[in-house]
Amino acid sequence: MQPLPGSGRVYLVGAGPGDPELLTLRAMRLLQQAQVVVYDHLVSSAVLDFVSPGAERIYAGKRRNEHTLRQEEINALLIKLAGQGKQVVRLKGGDPFIFGRGGEELQALAAQGIAFEVVPGVTAASGVACYAGIPLTHRDYAQSCIFVTGHLKNGTADLDWTSLVRLNQTVVIYMGLGGLPEICRQLMAHGAAPNLPIAVVQDGSIATQTVVTGTLADMPERVAQAGLKSPCLTIIGEVVKLHAALAWFRSSLPLKTA
Ligand code: SAH
Repeated sequence: MQPLPGSGRVYLVGAGPGDPELLTLRAMRLLQQAQVVVYDHLVSSAVLDFVSPGAERIYAGKRRNEHTLRQEEINALLIKLAGQGKQVVRLKGGDPFIFGRGGEELQALAAQGIAFEVVPGVTAASGVACYAGIPLTHRDYAQSCIFVTGHLKNGTADLDWTSLVRLNQTVVIYMGLGGLPEICRQLMAHGAAPNLPIAVVQDGSIATQTVVTGTLADMPERVAQAGLKSPCLTIIGEVVKLHAALAWFRSSLPLKTA
C-alpha cells in the first residue's frame, strides 16, 4: 500500500539496554525531534531524559503478566497518532527487531499505509554481555552464539533443547528469569554438563547492574538467594568463565554502609 498523504510517520527506535551512551546518533536525534514518544517498560529513565521536553510521552507498558496496553491497542495508537500527521517515536528497549514485537507493529502500520523507519539499537545480548565482561564468542570457548526467549507458556519453555546443548556454543536467553529452574533442568536432561558455567545479569549497563555466576546445577538456588528481578539476561557456556578476569563495569551507586 502507498503511504497516505500527510507527513505523519512512525520511527521504530531501539533504545539499547539502558545506558544512554549506547543510543545511536540517529536515535538521539529522533528523540529530540519527536512530537510523541511511545515507550516501553524496558526503556531506562536515563534514556527518557533525552526526549525533547516538548514531546508528549506515552507509556505503553508491558511487564510480564501485567500488560498496560495490549499489543492491538499499541498498534491502534501508533496508527492514530501518525494519522494525525505526527512524528512519532516508538521507543523500545534494546533492538526493535529482537524479541520486541517490532515487526508486528510495523506490519500493522504497513497495512494502513503509514510511513515508517526503523533504527537499530544495541540488543541486550550484546550490550549486557559487554558490560558484564563476557565475550559471546571466543576462539577457545565458543564458535557460535544463539539467542532464544525463555518466556514460559503454561509453565514450560517450548525450546529446541537439543540445539541448545551443542558444544562450543554460547546460549543467550532473553526473558528467562521465571523459567530458569526449568531451563537448567531441561538442559541437563538433554545432556549438558551440570558444571556448565552460566551467568544471570540483572539491569545490564546501568548503575544497578548485578552479575550472578554459577553452574547449571546450582544456578536456580544462587539466583533465588540473590533475589534477582527482571530484566535479567541469562548467558550459558564456557565463555562465562571469562567474567572473572574481564568484568570492568562498576556500579556507580554509593557503597552501602553496614
Ligand atoms: N528488544 C530487546 C529485548 C526485549 S525482551 C533487546 O533487543 O534487547 C526483554 C528481555 O531483554 C528481558 O526480559 C531481558 O532478558 C532482556 N534485557 C533487556 N534489557 C536488559 C538489561 N538492561 N539487563 C538485562 N537484561 C535485559
